[in-house]
Amino acid sequence: MRSDRILILGGTRDAREIADELVAAGRNVVTSLAGVTEQPVLPSGEVRVGGFGGVVGLKSYLESGHIGLVIDATHPFAARMSVQAFEACHAIGVLLIRFERSPWVAGEDDDWTYSPSAAEAASAVPSGARVLLTTGRKDLQPFFDRQDISGIARMIEASPVAPPCNWQILRERPPFSFAGELTLMSENAVTHLVTKNAGGTSTNAKLLAARERKIPVFMINRPSKPVVRSFGAIGKLVSAVGGVLSP
Ligand code: NAP
Repeated sequence: MRSDRILILGGTRDAREIADELVAAGRNVVTSLAGVTEQPVLPSGEVRVGGFGGVVGLKSYLESGHIGLVIDATHPFAARMSVQAFEACHAIGVLLIRFERSPWVAGEDDDWTYSPSAAEAASAVPSGARVLLTTGRKDLQPFFDRQDISGIARMIEASPVAPPCNWQILRERPPFSFAGELTLMSENAVTHLVTKNAGGTSTNAKLLAARERKIPVFMINRPSKPVVRSFGAIGKLVSAVGGVLSP
């Protein structure tokens, strides 16, 4: 019989909400965090922190922890963890499902340029641009390498690289409001927004503010992840868990 112990691969608000709902429903849940955030908001239930040590480490964790179901609720750009989860679960026959928030979609008044990577977005930004960069603490270097653009790079944790003098680091944690994003853009004379297509509602106010101020957006497309049974609504995923595990 399948074990009823669930591992949630977390690091997102969605993962927290999934854990909260499953724990409230009486499920046996452990959430795993990579350990990159200094003071994470913790979900209900058990929490473990730190990498597993690749596919081999994850397989061993799943076996020794008697995990019957893995829920991949990592960020859409955390592709490595999703690939490793797929490979480990596939190798030892543990069930894997994913929560996948819908990507943001441009409206007819939006001016979006799509980029396959941060490096390509960095090279596409026009000279003289004053950028609001919200790609997080990874992927900063190609922007910092451009001496003909300047701006603000926003992230939760400290920047792993020192910014050059034409860039300012802004450490803030979502959610962000429409009014706040408008003020940030106008006070800093922002001319372009560069963001990853994270989807969701806690960080989409910048897109509404960019639309309002007619600011062009460079949108970095999501990396591909292995195909697994996926859910775009937390309620549906939680109900499906009831269908695959005994109560
Ligand atoms: P990643 O590139 O996919 O993974 C890098 C390594 O971090 C993995 O190989 C794994 O180490 C470890 N790891 C990642 N997620 C983990 C988890 N939930 N539990 C335990 N170990 C984990 O991930 P990332 O882009 O660095 O993101 C790290 C974490 O931050 C993720 O959990 C993600 O949900 C969250 N996050 C990411 C972003 C983003 O833009 N990338 C944004 C918001 C939140 P081992 O190989 O040692 O197992």
